[in-house]
Amino acid sequence: MEIRLNTRVRALIIQDGICGGVELEDGTALRCDAVILATGGFSYPSTGSTGDGHAMAEASGHAVQKALPALVPIETAESWPGMLSGLSLKNVRLSAYVSGAKKEKKIYSEMGEMLFTHTGISGPLALTLSSLLPEDLSGVRLAIDLKPALDEQTLDARLLRDFKEMSRRQLITVMDGLEPHSLAEQVVRLAGLSPAMPVNGVTAGQRAKLLETIKAVPLTPKKLRGFDEAIITRGGVSVKQVNPSTMESKLVPGLYFAGELLDVDAATGGFNLQIAFSTGALAGRSAAETE
Ligand SMILES: Cc1cc2nc3c(=O)[nH]c(=O)nc-3n(C[C@H](O)[C@H](O)[C@H](O)COP(=O)(O)OP(=O)(O)OC[C@H]3O[C@@H](n4cnc5c(N)ncnc54)[C@H](O)[C@@H]3O)c2cc1C
Repeated sequence: MEIRLNTRVRALIIQDGICGGVELEDGTALRCDAVILATGGFSYPSTGSTGDGHAMAEASGHAVQKALPALVPIETAESWPGMLSGLSLKNVRLSAYVSGAKKEKKIYSEMGEMLFTHTGISGPLALTLSSLLPEDLSGVRLAIDLKPALDEQTLDARLLRDFKEMSRRQLITVMDGLEPHSLAEQVVRLAGLSPAMPVNGVTAGQRAKLLETIKAVPLTPKKLRGFDEAIITRGGVSVKQVNPSTMESKLVPGLYFAGELLDVDAATGGFNLQIAFSTGALAGRSAAETE
Protein backbone atom coordinates (compact mmCIF):
# COMPACT_ATOMS: atom_id res chain seq x y z
CA MET A 1 0.00 0.00 0.00
CA GLU A 2 1.21 3.52 -0.80
CA ILE A 3 1.61 5.60 2.39
CA ARG A 4 1.20 9.33 1.86
CA LEU A 5 3.67 10.85 4.30
CA ASN A 6 2.14 14.31 4.01
CA THR A 7 -1.26 13.06 5.15
CA ARG A 8 -1.94 13.54 8.82
CA VAL A 9 -3.46 11.01 11.17
CA ARG A 10 -6.98 11.86 12.33
CA ALA A 11 -7.87 8.90 14.59
CA LEU A 12 -6.63 5.71 16.19
CA ILE A 13 -8.21 2.42 15.12
CA ILE A 14 -9.15 0.52 18.26
CA GLN A 15 -11.02 -2.76 18.05
CA ASP A 16 -11.92 -4.98 21.00
CA GLY A 17 -9.88 -2.62 23.19
CA ILE A 18 -6.66 -3.15 21.16
CA CYS A 19 -5.00 -0.51 19.00
CA GLY A 20 -4.52 -1.91 15.52
CA GLY A 21 -3.80 1.06 13.29
CA VAL A 22 -4.54 4.66 12.40
CA GLU A 23 -6.96 6.45 10.13
CA LEU A 24 -5.53 9.19 7.91
CA GLU A 25 -7.26 12.48 7.17
CA ASP A 26 -8.16 11.27 3.68
CA GLY A 27 -9.97 8.30 5.22
CA THR A 28 -7.28 5.69 4.49
CA ALA A 29 -6.98 3.07 7.23
CA LEU A 30 -3.43 1.91 7.99
CA ARG A 31 -3.43 -1.40 9.87
CA CYS A 32 -0.46 -2.40 12.02
CA ASP A 33 0.47 -4.34 15.17
CA ALA A 34 1.44 -1.30 17.22
CA VAL A 35 0.98 2.47 17.11
CA ILE A 36 3.28 5.02 18.76
CA LEU A 37 1.52 8.28 19.44
CA ALA A 38 4.24 10.97 19.49
CA THR A 39 2.46 14.05 18.22
CA GLY A 40 4.14 16.53 20.60
CA GLY A 41 2.27 19.32 22.35
CA PHE A 42 0.55 22.50 21.18
CA SER A 43 3.70 24.65 21.16
CA TYR A 44 4.85 26.31 17.96
CA PRO A 45 1.86 24.93 15.98
CA SER A 46 3.57 26.05 12.77
CA THR A 47 5.85 22.99 13.21
CA GLY A 48 2.81 20.69 12.85
CA SER A 49 2.36 20.03 16.56
CA THR A 50 -1.24 21.09 17.09
CA GLY A 51 -2.26 18.81 19.94
CA ASP A 52 -4.03 16.21 17.79
CA GLY A 53 -2.60 13.40 19.91
CA HIS A 54 -4.14 14.85 23.06
CA ALA A 55 -7.60 14.48 21.52
CA MET A 56 -6.81 10.95 20.24
CA ALA A 57 -5.54 9.87 23.66
CA GLU A 58 -8.62 11.29 25.33
CA ALA A 59 -10.95 9.62 22.80
CA SER A 60 -9.30 6.29 23.61
CA GLY A 61 -10.12 6.70 27.31
CA HIS A 62 -6.86 8.12 28.65
CA ALA A 63 -6.68 10.83 31.30
CA VAL A 64 -5.14 13.89 29.70
CA GLN A 65 -4.00 16.74 31.94
CA LYS A 66 -4.90 20.22 30.67
CA ALA A 67 -2.35 21.52 28.20
CA LEU A 68 -0.73 24.82 29.15
CA PRO A 69 2.07 26.81 27.50
CA ALA A 70 5.37 26.45 29.39
CA LEU A 71 8.90 27.80 29.03
CA VAL A 72 7.15 30.87 27.67
CA PRO A 73 7.52 34.65 28.20
CA ILE A 74 5.43 36.22 30.95
CA GLU A 75 3.22 39.28 30.41
CA THR A 76 3.17 41.74 33.29
CA ALA A 77 0.41 44.03 34.50
CA GLU A 78 2.99 46.86 34.56
CA SER A 79 3.65 48.43 31.17
CA TRP A 80 7.08 49.87 32.01
CA PRO A 81 9.02 46.69 30.98
CA GLY A 82 7.89 47.51 27.42
CA MET A 83 9.96 50.73 27.55
CA LEU A 84 13.01 48.59 28.39
CA SER A 85 12.23 45.95 25.74
CA GLY A 86 15.39 44.15 24.63
CA LEU A 87 17.38 45.03 27.76
CA SER A 88 18.89 41.87 29.23
CA LEU A 89 20.04 41.52 32.83
CA LYS A 90 22.81 39.24 34.04
CA ASN A 91 23.40 37.99 37.58
CA VAL A 92 20.01 39.07 38.93
CA ARG A 93 17.68 37.06 41.15
CA LEU A 94 14.07 36.53 40.11
CA SER A 95 11.66 35.44 42.86
CA ALA A 96 7.97 34.57 42.78
CA TYR A 97 5.54 34.55 45.70
CA VAL A 98 2.00 33.21 45.91
CA SER A 99 -0.37 34.59 48.53
CA GLY A 100 -1.95 31.89 50.66
CA ALA A 101 -4.76 31.78 53.22
CA LYS A 102 -2.34 32.46 56.08
CA LYS A 103 0.93 33.61 54.59
CA GLU A 104 2.77 34.17 51.37
CA LYS A 105 4.76 31.28 49.90
CA LYS A 106 7.95 31.65 47.88
CA ILE A 107 7.62 29.32 44.88
CA TYR A 108 10.72 30.35 42.92
CA SER A 109 13.99 32.15 43.53
CA GLU A 110 16.88 31.74 41.13
CA MET A 111 19.87 33.75 39.98
CA GLY A 112 20.76 34.14 36.33
CA GLU A 113 19.78 36.02 33.21
CA MET A 114 16.52 37.55 32.11
CA LEU A 115 15.23 40.01 29.57
CA PHE A 116 12.56 42.70 29.28
CA THR A 117 10.12 42.35 26.37
CA HIS A 118 7.45 44.61 24.89
CA THR A 119 4.86 42.89 27.12
CA GLY A 120 6.83 41.78 30.19
CA ILE A 121 9.76 39.47 30.83
CA SER A 122 11.54 36.57 29.13
CA GLY A 123 15.00 34.99 29.15
CA PRO A 124 16.13 31.87 31.06
CA LEU A 125 14.87 32.90 34.54
CA ALA A 126 11.43 33.98 33.30
CA LEU A 127 11.01 30.96 31.01
CA THR A 128 11.83 28.54 33.82
CA LEU A 129 9.49 30.37 36.17
CA SER A 130 6.64 30.18 33.63
CA SER A 131 6.61 26.38 33.97
CA LEU A 132 6.16 26.66 37.74
CA LEU A 133 3.46 29.31 37.96
CA PRO A 134 -0.07 28.32 38.96
CA GLU A 135 -2.74 28.65 36.28
CA ASP A 136 -4.49 31.34 38.33
CA LEU A 137 -2.00 34.20 38.54
CA SER A 138 -4.17 36.49 40.64
CA GLY A 139 -2.24 35.91 43.89
CA VAL A 140 1.24 35.91 42.40
CA ARG A 141 3.84 38.66 42.67
CA LEU A 142 7.39 38.79 41.33
CA ALA A 143 10.49 40.58 42.57
CA ILE A 144 13.79 41.15 40.80
CA ASP A 145 16.85 41.60 43.02
CA LEU A 146 19.16 43.66 40.81
CA LYS A 147 22.12 43.24 43.18
CA PRO A 148 21.82 39.75 44.68
CA ALA A 149 25.53 39.57 45.46
CA LEU A 150 25.26 42.56 47.85
CA ASP A 151 23.30 42.31 51.08
CA GLU A 152 21.27 45.35 52.11
CA GLN A 153 23.93 46.62 54.49
CA THR A 154 26.70 46.45 51.89
CA LEU A 155 24.51 48.03 49.21
CA ASP A 156 23.49 50.84 51.57
CA ALA A 157 27.15 51.51 52.36
CA ARG A 158 27.84 51.69 48.61
CA LEU A 159 24.93 54.12 48.11
CA LEU A 160 26.10 56.28 51.01
CA ARG A 161 29.64 56.41 49.61
CA ASP A 162 28.38 57.37 46.13
CA PHE A 163 25.96 59.93 47.59
CA LYS A 164 28.85 61.53 49.48
CA GLU A 165 31.15 61.60 46.45
CA MET A 166 28.45 62.98 44.14
CA SER A 167 26.40 65.04 46.60
CA ARG A 168 25.85 67.93 44.17
CA ARG A 169 24.97 65.74 41.19
CA GLN A 170 21.56 64.44 40.11
CA LEU A 171 20.33 61.15 41.61
CA ILE A 172 20.34 59.47 38.18
CA THR A 173 24.14 60.00 37.98
CA VAL A 174 24.63 57.81 41.06
CA MET A 175 22.17 55.21 39.77
CA ASP A 176 23.86 55.11 36.35
CA GLY A 177 26.86 53.65 38.17
CA LEU A 178 24.70 50.75 39.37
CA GLU A 179 22.41 49.92 36.46
CA PRO A 180 21.99 50.58 32.71
CA HIS A 181 20.54 54.09 32.30
CA SER A 182 16.98 53.13 31.24
CA LEU A 183 16.63 50.69 34.13
CA ALA A 184 18.27 53.09 36.59
CA GLU A 185 15.69 55.74 35.65
CA GLN A 186 12.84 53.24 36.11
CA VAL A 187 14.12 52.09 39.51
CA VAL A 188 14.30 55.70 40.72
CA ARG A 189 10.71 56.33 39.59
CA LEU A 190 9.48 53.06 41.16
CA ALA A 191 11.01 54.27 44.42
CA GLY A 192 8.84 57.39 44.07
CA LEU A 193 11.77 59.69 43.37
CA SER A 194 12.81 61.97 40.52
CA PRO A 195 15.93 61.10 38.48
CA ALA A 196 16.81 64.81 38.31
CA MET A 197 16.64 65.48 42.06
CA PRO A 198 19.94 66.51 43.69
CA VAL A 199 21.66 63.75 45.63
CA ASN A 200 22.04 66.00 48.68
CA GLY A 201 18.24 66.35 48.76
CA VAL A 202 17.61 62.58 49.19
CA THR A 203 16.43 61.84 52.74
CA ALA A 204 17.39 58.70 54.70
CA GLY A 205 13.83 57.39 54.21
CA GLN A 206 14.03 57.95 50.45
CA ARG A 207 17.42 56.19 50.35
CA ALA A 208 15.89 53.25 52.20
CA LYS A 209 13.06 53.09 49.65
CA LEU A 210 15.58 53.21 46.80
CA LEU A 211 17.53 50.37 48.40
CA GLU A 212 14.34 48.35 48.86
CA THR A 213 13.45 48.84 45.18
CA ILE A 214 16.91 47.81 43.92
CA LYS A 215 16.68 44.63 46.02
CA ALA A 216 13.08 43.84 44.95
CA VAL A 217 11.81 45.51 41.77
CA PRO A 218 8.11 44.62 41.90
CA LEU A 219 6.28 43.03 38.96
CA THR A 220 2.86 41.41 38.65
CA PRO A 221 2.43 38.52 36.22
CA LYS A 222 -0.74 39.04 34.15
CA LYS A 223 -0.68 36.06 31.81
CA LEU A 224 1.63 33.72 29.99
CA ARG A 225 2.22 34.28 26.29
CA GLY A 226 0.52 31.75 24.01
CA PHE A 227 1.43 28.37 22.57
CA ASP A 228 2.94 30.01 19.48
CA GLU A 229 5.73 31.40 21.74
CA ALA A 230 5.93 28.48 24.20
CA ILE A 231 8.99 26.23 23.91
CA ILE A 232 7.05 23.35 25.43
CA THR A 233 3.56 22.29 26.50
CA ARG A 234 2.75 21.37 30.09
CA GLY A 235 0.13 18.66 30.69
CA GLY A 236 -0.71 15.74 28.41
CA VAL A 237 -1.29 12.01 28.76
CA SER A 238 -1.15 10.95 32.42
CA VAL A 239 1.95 8.82 33.01
CA LYS A 240 -0.04 6.78 35.53
CA GLN A 241 -1.70 5.09 32.55
CA VAL A 242 1.56 4.32 30.76
CA ASN A 243 3.86 1.38 31.55
CA PRO A 244 7.26 3.04 32.19
CA SER A 245 9.15 -0.12 31.17
CA THR A 246 7.69 -0.16 27.66
CA MET A 247 5.74 3.13 27.16
CA GLU A 248 2.69 1.02 26.26
CA SER A 249 -0.71 2.20 27.43
CA LYS A 250 -2.03 0.33 30.47
CA LEU A 251 -5.54 0.74 29.02
CA VAL A 252 -5.16 0.01 25.31
CA PRO A 253 -2.66 -2.73 24.31
CA GLY A 254 -0.80 -1.95 21.10
CA LEU A 255 -0.81 1.79 21.78
CA TYR A 256 2.46 3.43 22.86
CA PHE A 257 3.20 7.02 23.87
CA ALA A 258 6.36 9.09 23.58
CA GLY A 259 7.62 12.64 23.91
CA GLU A 260 5.97 15.88 24.78
CA LEU A 261 2.48 14.42 24.45
CA LEU A 262 3.10 12.88 27.86
CA ASP A 263 2.42 14.80 31.06
CA VAL A 264 6.15 15.27 31.66
CA ASP A 265 8.04 18.51 31.27
CA ALA A 266 11.38 19.88 32.32
CA ALA A 267 13.42 23.08 32.53
CA THR A 268 15.51 24.45 29.68
CA GLY A 269 18.84 22.79 28.99
CA GLY A 270 17.99 19.97 26.58
CA PHE A 271 15.95 18.00 29.09
CA ASN A 272 12.75 18.11 27.02
CA LEU A 273 14.53 16.77 23.96
CA GLN A 274 16.04 14.09 26.19
CA ILE A 275 12.54 13.12 27.39
CA ALA A 276 11.45 12.83 23.75
CA PHE A 277 14.54 10.82 22.71
CA SER A 278 14.45 8.44 25.69
CA THR A 279 10.71 7.72 25.65
CA GLY A 280 10.77 7.52 21.85
CA ALA A 281 13.60 4.97 21.82
CA LEU A 282 11.91 2.86 24.49
CA ALA A 283 8.51 3.04 22.77
CA GLY A 284 10.11 2.15 19.44
CA ARG A 285 11.97 -0.88 20.82
CA SER A 286 8.92 -2.09 22.72
CA ALA A 287 6.53 -1.57 19.80
CA ALA A 288 8.86 -3.54 17.50
CA GLU A 289 8.48 -6.50 19.84
CA THR A 290 4.67 -6.36 19.67
CA GLU A 291 3.23 -9.35 17.85
C1 LIG B 1 11.68 27.01 19.34
C2 LIG B 1 11.88 25.79 20.22
C3 LIG B 1 13.10 25.61 20.85
C4 LIG B 1 13.29 24.50 21.65
N1 LIG B 1 14.49 24.34 22.28
C5 LIG B 1 14.68 23.27 23.06
C6 LIG B 1 15.93 23.05 23.68
O1 LIG B 1 16.86 23.84 23.52
N2 LIG B 1 16.06 21.97 24.48
C7 LIG B 1 15.04 21.09 24.69
O2 LIG B 1 15.21 20.12 25.43
N3 LIG B 1 13.87 21.24 24.09
C8 LIG B 1 13.67 22.31 23.28
N4 LIG B 1 12.46 22.48 22.69
C9 LIG B 1 11.40 21.49 22.96
C10 LIG B 1 11.60 20.23 22.13
O3 LIG B 1 11.79 20.59 20.78
C11 LIG B 1 10.37 19.34 22.29
O4 LIG B 1 10.17 19.02 23.65
C12 LIG B 1 10.54 18.05 21.49
O5 LIG B 1 10.74 18.36 20.11
C13 LIG B 1 9.32 17.19 21.64
O6 LIG B 1 9.46 16.11 20.76
P1 LIG B 1 8.22 15.28 20.27
O7 LIG B 1 8.74 14.33 19.25
O8 LIG B 1 7.47 14.74 21.43
O9 LIG B 1 7.22 16.32 19.58
P2 LIG B 1 7.46 17.26 18.32
O10 LIG B 1 8.90 17.57 18.15
O11 LIG B 1 6.51 18.39 18.53
O12 LIG B 1 7.03 16.36 17.09
C14 LIG B 1 5.69 15.96 16.90
C15 LIG B 1 5.50 15.60 15.44
O13 LIG B 1 4.20 15.02 15.27
C16 LIG B 1 3.62 15.55 14.11
N5 LIG B 1 2.16 15.48 14.21
C17 LIG B 1 1.34 16.12 15.11
N6 LIG B 1 0.06 15.79 14.90
C18 LIG B 1 0.07 14.92 13.87
C19 LIG B 1 -0.97 14.21 13.17
N7 LIG B 1 -2.26 14.33 13.49
N8 LIG B 1 -0.62 13.39 12.13
C20 LIG B 1 0.69 13.25 11.78
N9 LIG B 1 1.70 13.89 12.39
C21 LIG B 1 1.39 14.71 13.43
C22 LIG B 1 4.11 17.00 14.06
O14 LIG B 1 4.00 17.49 12.74
C23 LIG B 1 5.54 16.83 14.52
O15 LIG B 1 6.39 16.53 13.43
C24 LIG B 1 12.26 23.56 21.83
C25 LIG B 1 11.04 23.75 21.19
C26 LIG B 1 10.85 24.85 20.40
C27 LIG B 1 9.52 25.02 19.71
